[in-house]
Amino acid sequence: MKYQGNISKMKSNLTDTVEYLFPIGEQQIPLNQFIGKKISLTYLQQINCIACGKKTNKSFGQGFCYTCFSEAPQASECVLQPDKCKAHLGISRDNEWAQQHCLAPHVVYLAVSSNLKIGITRLTQIPTRWIDQGASLAIIVAQTPNRHIAGTIEKFLMQHYSDKTNWQGMLQGKSMEIDLLVEKEKACEYLPAELKQYCNEDENITQLNFPISQFPDKVKSVTFDKIDKVEGIITGIKGQYLILDNSNVLNVRRHNGYLVELDITE
Ligand SMILES: [Zn+2]
Repeated sequence: MKYQGNISKMKSNLTDTVEYLFPIGEQQIPLNQFIGKKISLTYLQQINCIACGKKTNKSFGQGFCYTCFSEAPQASECVLQPDKCKAHLGISRDNEWAQQHCLAPHVVYLAVSSNLKIGITRLTQIPTRWIDQGASLAIIVAQTPNRHIAGTIEKFLMQHYSDKTNWQGMLQGKSMEIDLLVEKEKACEYLPAELKQYCNEDENITQLNFPISQFPDKVKSVTFDKIDKVEGIITGIKGQYLILDNSNVLNVRRHNGYLVELDITE
């Protein structure tokens, strides 16, 4: 089957195994059934901004034209630096957007992909955020009323934990033995009293299984900025990556707004 359209970050559902949907144009292709099958993606040399839809020669901040990257609320500084969020002071690019995205309940979490990492997200983005990062285990450490406080806790805990995923290790299925309950307790102990009050008693550890038939020994990230065609047999999907049998991996999220032809055969 052939499909054509602008692609965007994969959607997912957490069941026993994460189920992925690949958005292309108006369609959403369920991908899990194609593991073990051949896929080919051809870049059609056009990028459309995911905020305004206009053509852009280059993608800024994973899918924006330069104007939207500079002005659109969804590309605000606090997306990448939550501790700098000023929405709680009434300062933002767009009040309504800030109300929904910054002044909403957030969580601080610890997740294990190949390494242990600290992160934050909106409460409603759990477990999507963990799936997007390819985490195999995760626990909520604290819940806060807004993005700024969650960002401040994260910043504090970055003295003890990485905030980055080792994506190569994550895609190769490497993992650390970590007791997340013990780590959660430690993380809360590190915090000063005014931040520790947001730690909760939730001891629930979420386990995530990804659809992977075989982990690659080595991985090579490919991008449409350098090559026009990516093809191979899909051996797995993890995080926002398609893993192919030739060790090539494609970070789908990085190509938000790219116009692509998808050819996939059952
Ligand atoms: Zn735009």
